[in-house]
Amino acid sequence: MTETITAARESEVVAAAETRLYIDGQWRDARNGRTLEVHDPSTGKVLATVADASVEDGWDALYAAQRAQQDFAAMPPRQRADILMRAFELMHQRKDDLALLMTLEMGKPLAESYGEVNYAAEFFRHFAEEATRIGGNYQTAPAGNARFVVAKQPVGPSILITPWNFPLAMGTRKIGPALAAGCTSVLKPAELTPLSMLALARILEEAGVPAGVVNIVVTSTAGDVMEPLIRSGIARKLSFTGSTAVGKKLLEQASDKVLRTSMELGGNAAFVVFEDADIDQAVEGAIAAKMRNSGEACTAANRIFAHESVIDEFSTKLAERMAQMPVGRGVDEGVKVGPMVDAKQRDKVAELVDDAVKSGARVVLGGEPAAGEGFFYRPTVLSQVPEQARMWQEEIFGPVAPVSSFSTEDEVIAKVNDTPYGLVNYVYTNDLTRGLRVAERVESGMVGLNQGVVSNPAAPFGGIKESGLGREGGDTGIDEFLETKYIGIQM
Ligand code: NAP
Repeated sequence: MTETITAARESEVVAAAETRLYIDGQWRDARNGRTLEVHDPSTGKVLATVADASVEDGWDALYAAQRAQQDFAAMPPRQRADILMRAFELMHQRKDDLALLMTLEMGKPLAESYGEVNYAAEFFRHFAEEATRIGGNYQTAPAGNARFVVAKQPVGPSILITPWNFPLAMGTRKIGPALAAGCTSVLKPAELTPLSMLALARILEEAGVPAGVVNIVVTSTAGDVMEPLIRSGIARKLSFTGSTAVGKKLLEQASDKVLRTSMELGGNAAFVVFEDADIDQAVEGAIAAKMRNSGEACTAANRIFAHESVIDEFSTKLAERMAQMPVGRGVDEGVKVGPMVDAKQRDKVAELVDDAVKSGARVVLGGEPAAGEGFFYRPTVLSQVPEQARMWQEEIFGPVAPVSSFSTEDEVIAKVNDTPYGLVNYVYTNDLTRGLRVAERVESGMVGLNQGVVSNPAAPFGGIKESGLGREGGDTGIDEFLETKYIGIQM
């Protein structure tokens, strides 16, 4: 349920927002008093001023996590699960404020922010349930002369780094399993959207997370603050969600002390419509896969391939649907497409579209930024995008749908796999055998078969190739924060 948002309600939520660092159970300013500004991308205006952590604050947070680790690991799993369940419930109680704050700092339509609060909270419920099911094994050695006890233990203090596009869910997807496994953490949210994570930290505090167990460090100098922490080896785990370029850099840093790593990186999803697909269903799926989060999602359909016999019908219907999506401030009723997160992101989208058009693509809809304040780009459909266009290889991260045709299954599978990324692909067909055959052959960690959204806390989310390492959510998500220990017993 969404509410009608007045300017007074916006001011009230922003005024109540937490803007300090959360370190060792204390809310505090940066040691050197530095601050950074958070902007509303739908107006470009300053929304709030937030404490901007220095390297010293980063160390304070990591040492706090280190000190808290032993006691927290010893906390009974049921108690950890209860904390997570309380946090889940508090997120639902505060959903109006959380959703509005998210829309104000990130831009997504309010209905989508409600969706994200729900999705984000679900990771706490899921991992509350997992916390009490951490298993082990007892086995007889093949020679019969020994027994093996296999136990799972928390990996230890963890560094968690999250992006701006899902400011809450990318955090709970890491904090949930870390808490369930018994790991303390230092979380660094994106500089563009720290308010949601700080609001979450208040909830965690209220839910009973002990001091030092979760620490939130907001900073405008991510590299300077995080690199020494990662290289120190005090944290035993690095879990990162963000771009492939930054992920590769962090993998190198993590190699210094051989940290366990989870990497949720960029994507370049293909969306394939076969000639036997239900075209209306495929159009709805494409809208979900392309336009969720105004196209600013790692799972966004970046390359749409429709069979040559249905491409005209599919493209016309897709353009009609996208033309009906109102663009505007995410707080306004009926808005379906919000602004890009900042001017840089909007300009990158414009650059990729201009490059495609110069190379010969035809603009079916949109094709330019929207006039006025804020960082808006119009919903855009492009056809006949040539192979050399940069957008086939680079994440667009905006409301732009390039559509191209294919004639055979082998041809389209080769096109789908012609990318260094491998996060998710979407396949639309009414032939289940073909659907499964194609799903098995495409190179990605996830496939949406007649489904435009794959994210689900109970399913293993993650990519292969340069889209990352490890999985978040599902029944294996907690393993990312657990070590396996084997104890051999002579008989
Ligand atoms: P980004 O530039 O890589 O930033 C991600 C996070 O890393 C931010 O918190 C950022 O901090 C931080 N960071 C940047 N440089 C760093 C450094 N040298 N050391 C430590 N931390 C550093 O990515 P983004 O633009 O925020 O997010 C978009 C990207 O995330 C896209 O590529 C998208 O596909 C990917 N993504 C992937 C998934 C997935 O599950 N696979 C989910 C969502 C997004 P600052 O922002 O404060 O600089």
